Amino acid sequence: MSAERPTATQFDVAIVGAGVIGLSCALHLLRAGRSVVVLERDRVGAGASHGNCGTITPSHALPLAQPGMVRKALRWMLTRDAPFHVAPRLDPALLAWLLRFGRNCNWNQVRSATRDRAALLKLSRQLLEDLIHQESIDCAFSASGLLTVFRDERAFDESRVLESLLAEVEVPIEALSGSEVQAREPALRPGVVAGHWYPTDAVLRPDHLVAGLARIVRALGGEIREQSPVESFRFGSDGAPRAVVAAQAVVARELLLCGGAWTPQIARMLGLRVPMQPGKGYSITYPALAAPPRTPLVLRERSVCVTAWGSGFRLGSTMEFSGYNTQLNRLRLDALVRGAAEYLQPPLGGAVQEEWYGWRPMMADDLPIIGASSRLPHLWFAGGHGMLGMSMSAATGQCLTELMLGRTPSIPTAPFAPGRLGL
Ligand SMILES: Cc1cc2nc3c(=O)[nH]c(=O)nc-3n(C[C@H](O)[C@H](O)[C@H](O)COP(=O)(O)OP(=O)(O)OC[C@H]3O[C@@H](n4cnc5c(N)ncnc54)[C@H](O)[C@@H]3O)c2cc1C
Repeated sequence: MSAERPTATQFDVAIVGAGVIGLSCALHLLRAGRSVVVLERDRVGAGASHGNCGTITPSHALPLAQPGMVRKALRWMLTRDAPFHVAPRLDPALLAWLLRFGRNCNWNQVRSATRDRAALLKLSRQLLEDLIHQESIDCAFSASGLLTVFRDERAFDESRVLESLLAEVEVPIEALSGSEVQAREPALRPGVVAGHWYPTDAVLRPDHLVAGLARIVRALGGEIREQSPVESFRFGSDGAPRAVVAAQAVVARELLLCGGAWTPQIARMLGLRVPMQPGKGYSITYPALAAPPRTPLVLRERSVCVTAWGSGFRLGSTMEFSGYNTQLNRLRLDALVRGAAEYLQPPLGGAVQEEWYGWRPMMADDLPIIGASSRLPHLWFAGGHGMLGMSMSAATGQCLTELMLGRTPSIPTAPFAPGRLGL
């Protein structure tokens, strides 16, 4: 960081990162009359927003940090293809994150995080559907509902705590018997013992949503600069930040960090430590099936998510804490296929269109960071959405814009404040 002579403000807001979160914020800020530039290291939607499962899930209001999770994680450390895996290594940032995560694994914290996440998820679910229809975004959106499928009675019994917790935050959930699940979804093999049906969940094609958002941002006069990695920051003598790309300072009144799992590296350039870990997940995309599942499915014991659009069929999931490791791990990809084959009628897929990994921006309390920095003026955050960035994107864009404009946000945003993490 260094000071520079004041120059004319060129943009109201400079956003770092053109994933679903950066673009949603850009769209809402532009609609509110702000001028916006989005700086993207690679190309639009190149990060986690590309190959994820595309489910829009108020049903996932419970945080990952739950009682019993640490024990499960320790057990799974020894299983290299487990759906949740912490690669053992001596990394102080990871250890600190795991300690924070462990402290959050209690029912009080689960209840309060569920309430805060549900508020964001429910608002976002509605805003997304409205936006997609208003702007005719061609992203295969369907108000499909979502079905969670169990082949093991005990796993289902353990999951029933969900029913009361989701009822408390008014997210509809319906328990189904094995035969009811089977009747609802003919693509499943026999042997299903029970399920949960979430009627308000939805699905869309994530890369198509991101492309649609970028189109609207540009149509509203926003600038998106691809292949523009932010390499450092400066502050003008007016206190306003400048994001530096290829030695050129992009001048803006406000700076908004939407760098997904890269946020810690970006914030480091500002002298801030963001306690976030990349949670690596994988997906495999196939051409569309002749008889695809009718609704998105979560195959519970294997933690595999199955989504089908007219343009393709995707298996996704797994949560691997292995740092910024860029290897496409064959063990995990194979585990997705094996897991799906246990539940679904053949044929599964055909020729693979894409094998992919993405880094989810994971916070130890599983709450995103949305709002103004408590440390630096003119600095804002929108990130840390973990497993739910697609689902929370529209409400994040709206609330961030309301906060930046000094308006009362549509839902309480204090639980998401950067200040809770000393940021
Ligand atoms: C396997 C898998 C399945 C998932 N399924 C779902 C799902 O079904 N539903 C759901 O809601 N969520 C799902 N998610 C989570 C979701 O994908 C993420 O929460 C979301 O994409 C995060 O969006 P983002 O914009 O914060 O980050 P990203 O999409 O990662 O965007 C961050 C951007 O910042 C850019 N960037 C980084 N550094 C710089 C820099 N220095 N300068 C400029 N640009 C920079 C990156 O290139 C990137 O484009 C899934 C994730 C995975 C991995």
